[in-house]
Amino acid sequence: MARSPASEFDLLIIGAGSAGVRTARMAAQRGARVAVAEDAPLGGTCVNLGCIPKKLYSFAAHYAEAFEESHGFGWSAARPTLDWALLKANRAREITRLNGVYDQLLAGAGVTVLRGRAHVVAPGLVEVAGVDGTARYATRHLAIATGGWPVVPPVPGCELAITSNEIFDLAEFPKHLVVVGGGYIACEFASIFRGLGAQVTQLYRGEQVLRGFDDEVRHFLAAEVRKKGVDLRLGADVAGIARLPSGRLQVTLRDAAVLEADSVLYATGRAPNTAGLGLAQVGVALAPSGAVIVDERFRTNVPGIHALGDVIDRVQLTPVALAEAMALVDHLFGNSRRSVDYELIPTAVFTHPSVGTIGLAEHEARARFGKVRTYRSEFKALRHTLSGNTERTLMKLVVDEATDRVVGLHMVGADAGETVQGFAVAMKAGATKAQFDATIGIHPTAAEEFVTMREPVA
Ligand code: NDP
Repeated sequence: MARSPASEFDLLIIGAGSAGVRTARMAAQRGARVAVAEDAPLGGTCVNLGCIPKKLYSFAAHYAEAFEESHGFGWSAARPTLDWALLKANRAREITRLNGVYDQLLAGAGVTVLRGRAHVVAPGLVEVAGVDGTARYATRHLAIATGGWPVVPPVPGCELAITSNEIFDLAEFPKHLVVVGGGYIACEFASIFRGLGAQVTQLYRGEQVLRGFDDEVRHFLAAEVRKKGVDLRLGADVAGIARLPSGRLQVTLRDAAVLEADSVLYATGRAPNTAGLGLAQVGVALAPSGAVIVDERFRTNVPGIHALGDVIDRVQLTPVALAEAMALVDHLFGNSRRSVDYELIPTAVFTHPSVGTIGLAEHEARARFGKVRTYRSEFKALRHTLSGNTERTLMKLVVDEATDRVVGLHMVGADAGETVQGFAVAMKAGATKAQFDATIGIHPTAAEEFVTMREPVA
């Protein structure tokens, strides 16, 4: 039986992922009485089923190439093999450690963690159903930070497919993995499982993967991942999936081609997690996608109810969720009116090789500014002169002709995310091409190419 209001909080957050935990900690540090409700391990998608375990598996996958490359540098060793069970166990141990770190951070900040499934009963009143029963909590402000969930389109047999939620813990390592989709998740897992030793077929319905990225980057990446053995098929649509008597899966494409696979990963987007929260019942406006509609101060149309992170479906990136959290806390408990600047968000796709990008693709820059200059450098990284690896690196700058400002910076190559992060600061500060030219490179690095490109290609 539900008890009447048991507790009073200044802020109750539903969801302890990147957005929720940061909001809770920051608000508590400002002296607010804060609770966060969560029915899964703390840390949300990023910690449990996204960025962190994905990057750990990406590191694992890179070793396969590193062992091969070492021969060119004089090393020899017995043929290495992957112990999938050990990788999974070590990953799980690290994620459990991080769950504990989040727990301690919240406890240290004085945040009450309400374990259970929460729903909104009325503005300012939340019910949490946990293992110990159901309780209601009154709160002055409410923040929805429930994130997103993978979406699988309803093709026949789609229940046989897995999503990024399941891939980390597959019982058996898939000898042949079919990946459906052409976005971040599909491209990353295609590279990772290829690196770990699987035969990988990636099926993308459109004309090139990573729609929205710079076209040259997209084509360059596609060529590089194919060189590493990903069987990337474009214009490929799944008609259905069936279980064969052998236990393997049969994937039939619309053009009647048939593939056999051990696992089929659908990475076809993520939808906001708003079902069952009671938001519509209390009058919170939702977009057709289910996303909570908020203004620039993360307010919904219902006073006292806010939303942030993936559930508002603006930019599904952890650092953006963190920025939104800090802005929301400032609005609620500080006197700042700061809003989140969604321009020039740097991002990386952890494919092999990886993609790093800031600002506008060439086609976007042309549409926005009219006249732009582009600079391009393509080369074999120094390391690969001895490694035997045929991987190539692409770097590209897009410059607004009128102001000389660098408005787009793109890279496909090793550690692209590490390389572009610093350039994001320069671009936020409005750096011009002349200032890039006046910057001295660090030699020998790949990154120095960004400050040594002199002749525009277009
Ligand atoms: P994305 O939206 O990036 O990509 C979805 C892909 O699935 C697109 O290629 C899309 O094709 C395709 N697709 C959508 N619907 C269908 C369908 N019915 N049939 C076949 N294909 C379909 O989503 P992801 O799931 O890859 O990732 C979600 C978000 O998570 C990303 O957008 C990103 O913001 C974030 N993320 C960030 C990472 C990072 O920072 N490194 C890593 C992983 C995720 P089309 O292009 O034709 O629409």
